Amino acid sequence: MRMPSVKYQKGDKVMGRWPGSSLYYEVKVLGFDITSQLYTVIYKDGTELELKEQDIKNFAGFQTRSRSRSRSPGRRRSRSRSPARTTRRSSSRTAAAVAAAAGTDSSLSSSQDTRLKDALEQTMPAENNSNNKHEKKEENNTANKVNEVEAESEKNLGRYNLRRRKDDGGAKPAAVVAEQQEKEAVKEAAPPASTLSTPLDFGGKIGAYFWLLFLPSWVLFLVLQVNLEDPSLFNFPPPLPPLEAFWDVQALGFVILWILFQALLYVLPVGKLSEGMPLRSGERLKYRTNGFFAIVVSAVAVAVAVHQGVDLTYIHSHFLQLAVASLLVSVLLSVYLYVRSHNAAPEQQALGGNSGNVVYDFFKGRELNPRIKDFDLKFFCEMRPGLIGWCLINFALALAEMKLHGLDAPSYSMILVNVFQLLYVVDGLWNEEAILTTMDLMHDGFGFMLAFGDLVWVPFTYTLQAYYLVSHPNSLSPLAVATIVTLKLIGFYIFRKSNSEKNAFRRDPSDPKLSYLKTIPTATGKSLLVSGWWGVVRHPNYLGDLIMALAWSLPCGFSHLLPWYYMIYFIILLVHRDSRDMSDCRRKYGSAWDEYCRTVRYRIIPRVY
Ligand code: NDP
Repeated sequence: MRMPSVKYQKGDKVMGRWPGSSLYYEVKVLGFDITSQLYTVIYKDGTELELKEQDIKNFAGFQTRSRSRSRSPGRRRSRSRSPARTTRRSSSRTAAAVAAAAGTDSSLSSSQDTRLKDALEQTMPAENNSNNKHEKKEENNTANKVNEVEAESEKNLGRYNLRRRKDDGGAKPAAVVAEQQEKEAVKEAAPPASTLSTPLDFGGKIGAYFWLLFLPSWVLFLVLQVNLEDPSLFNFPPPLPPLEAFWDVQALGFVILWILFQALLYVLPVGKLSEGMPLRSGERLKYRTNGFFAIVVSAVAVAVAVHQGVDLTYIHSHFLQLAVASLLVSVLLSVYLYVRSHNAAPEQQALGGNSGNVVYDFFKGRELNPRIKDFDLKFFCEMRPGLIGWCLINFALALAEMKLHGLDAPSYSMILVNVFQLLYVVDGLWNEEAILTTMDLMHDGFGFMLAFGDLVWVPFTYTLQAYYLVSHPNSLSPLAVATIVTLKLIGFYIFRKSNSEKNAFRRDPSDPKLSYLKTIPTATGKSLLVSGWWGVVRHPNYLGDLIMALAWSLPCGFSHLLPWYYMIYFIILLVHRDSRDMSDCRRKYGSAWDEYCRTVRYRIIPRVY
């Protein structure tokens, strides 16, 4: 089908500029979007991008120009930046170092070359020397030949030699230089926001309207429902309290005080300054990871307050008002974030939150890392007021249970729910650095979706099990307690091990402790783990999380669906999140991702899903 009045047609073979560079590669046109005036093209390695017309050149004319340019000395440097070359760099750090030692990358000084050669002569496996031959072969060829060599190397890449990483040689100097090159590759391959946009998630523009209305209403519905004596779905809709019952200025004051208290703990110069993942600009932001300190100080403060006679059961009796106050704070924060995002530099804008539609972008978040000086708003909201608030609320609900039933101690069910969820939060804060390699921190902009999620959804829906137990006690036999604890520990083990493995690998791919893991190289310069936990399923961390979610719901018994709400919601969330991540990774890593999916067939549950 021909596209109306556009220069390039679907199926045309043209030369497309690689974003962020002045280099052109052969691409096939897949389509043209009249509204955005962008062409969707596919590179030979399977990467799909959207390009402007000015970033596309006619194939025939380009070949003639390339041929004449290939004689110029500058070509050698240019070649070293191609996506295909980038892949070879990442496919083997030693191969990357060979290219450098062979002098194909003029950015390395001659002294670095010599040091590299020395290191490599001792450690280079024969396999990697074949890549070196490619490099030399390339230098003697014309632009046409270069295309053939690229095609050949892509064929080789197609095999994705899944060798153990310790066979790479592993000499420190080579690894260090290659690491540097990987970082450069990330920087070079990273497209500027102005040239790229990603497909819309969450039902697109219409979906954004829906979620903006549905999510707050749903939280209010759950909070009203859990207050009922019989919180059954058949009691729908729950009786609505008078309007004034939704609002309490004092509750708003407590919410603001809590956020300010957490902000104060966050800015204290205590704890490590951790580096985030490289941004599109190549920059790495620093984050104060003192979450564990924050929860310990918060626990001491709460203990002192209770000792001084502060009645925390206020949280139980004013749950609805506290939820509404937090909702108001999250809406105001989202408006602020949306307004300030207009001053953000293009490379600071999230690729997924800049569709041009106000409602969608408000919902999804435009700015990737909004900061007030060094105060990172997204990181703070993700890790502090909501997460620590969740534990505070659970504790208050345990006190409310004791008060309501005249108990000296909370029930076993309440203790299990409290301890399990406390462990989850403490673990998250203890390993706070690991959040820097998650989707929320790396890819999602900070808008209503995350602000509401962090400040309202987490503290007021993740506490529903404890809330439910206050007025719906459920006794457990010792066997039931032992079974539930075992389940929780299994889930926690899988969750922690898999998250730590990926985090350690992303932070330092040359870490000798991870050398037993097999990897797949990708065109961006990063590799994908294909053994260890990430070789069992594509999201082992989700599997662990789901097993834990099951252990959180079981103490509440089977009388109502409401305490199982978290489990049901979490399955939906993680299945959707997995498919969102799959599309993002498919877009980022092209054929390497397909290869990963062929090797690791199941997404979350081995042999099931
Ligand atoms: P992940 O931590 O799984 O991050 C996904 C990213 O990991 C991908 O985008 C990719 O990023 C990288 N990746 C994927 N596959 C591989 C591989 N084979 N090798 C190396 N890197 C790979 O996802 P989330 O951020 O969704 O989850 C983080 C944790 O938070 C999980 O344990 C999840 O269960 C939990 N979670 C909990 C929630 C809750 O409400 N309780 C909500 C959401 C998440 P790149 O390649 O760019 O590095």
